Amino acid sequence: MSSQALDQFLSSNIEDLKTKGLYNFIDTLQGANGPVICIDGKSLINLSSNNYLGLATDYRLIDASVKAAQTYGAGAGAVRTINGTMDLHIELEEKLARFKKTEAVIVYQSGFNCNMAAISAVMDQHDAILSDELNHASIIDGCRLSRAKVIRFKHSDMNDLRQQAKEAKESGKYHKIMVITDGVFSMDGDIAKLPEIVKIAEEFDLITYVDDAHGSGVLGAGAGTVKHFELSDRIDFQIGTLSKAIGVVGGYVAGKKQLIEWLKLRSRPFLFSTSLPPAATASSIASVDILMNDKELIEKLWENGNHLKNGLSRLGYDVGQSETPITPCIIGDEVTTQQFSKRLYEEGVYAKAILFPTVPKGTGRIRNMPTAAHTKEMLDEVIYVYEKVGKEMKLI
Ligand SMILES: *Cc1c(COP(=O)(O)O)cnc(C)c1O
Repeated sequence: MSSQALDQFLSSNIEDLKTKGLYNFIDTLQGANGPVICIDGKSLINLSSNNYLGLATDYRLIDASVKAAQTYGAGAGAVRTINGTMDLHIELEEKLARFKKTEAVIVYQSGFNCNMAAISAVMDQHDAILSDELNHASIIDGCRLSRAKVIRFKHSDMNDLRQQAKEAKESGKYHKIMVITDGVFSMDGDIAKLPEIVKIAEEFDLITYVDDAHGSGVLGAGAGTVKHFELSDRIDFQIGTLSKAIGVVGGYVAGKKQLIEWLKLRSRPFLFSTSLPPAATASSIASVDILMNDKELIEKLWENGNHLKNGLSRLGYDVGQSETPITPCIIGDEVTTQQFSKRLYEEGVYAKAILFPTVPKGTGRIRNMPTAAHTKEMLDEVIYVYEKVGKEMKLI
């Protein structure tokens, strides 16, 4: 018999989410996460994945993963430090280091794990972390795990960051101070102000940490936000994921040799969690190869992003301040936004509503994530549906 206290806790909290309209119903895909997906037997144009370059379903990745599974097996068999390090893992790390133009790279099982691993490997209770208020949940959790004092600064507000950095430094209370930011903020598609962050970091001797999950494969000819600003030798930690533009699963930290050496010695997900399976590792290698040699997919992604953004904005929608292909469409009221998303679904467009508390109250939006795999016809159909639904709901 289960504990009554637990049952009570669960049922009252689940009920609470339902009454507040915050309960998350999860859709199940029947088949691949491509530009068109199938849910409940219904075919939908997919604008909700992070598969920016369409590589998740690329035959070159699929071939590489099949071959690796046949040669190396389905699982890696151990953690990296015992005997779970295969030549494939080393090849992927060396390739990523060349791709990111850093001295070295360490690969983890996910981007989320990178932040669990890297922050607490260098920061502790004697330190402070300046963190953008809109940073990703895994950064927030990684900071907490480190037990450092977390000081939030207003989103991309460089005056606030400078002020907080100055106070932290002058207080003399902290051994080390780190500034940490997303490279691209995925809710609005805006880019972190890295040139200014680097200047402030140099003035106050801050360690710099950029989580570029949404920038890699998108900005800086694919190498990411840090490369986009040509700041590769001035950022200490670059985090990337293998699960978004790269199209597979996993994450990595890129930086100086000594930093990566330390993470291999001390970071806990590397020491205590089994390494990536051969198939995932080999398909990531194939994906990075494609990214290094072929810029066409990135160009297509931007072309598609601009096409959608211009189309929606021509209809009179507020597409926000995005500087990347991520295209928010701000509707406003939470209930209207949810209704809008539901109507899009009925009309064959899968785009998620993002609501309070993920974004500020009254700025509910549909977040559209176009990819390189969408055709112009698909995006024109999306724009047509936005026009139809918007007129019907008297929003445009
Ligand atoms: C998606 C994301 C992650 C998590 O990456 P996974 O590889 O999916 O675990 C980490 N940080 C940021 C900023 C992200 O957007």
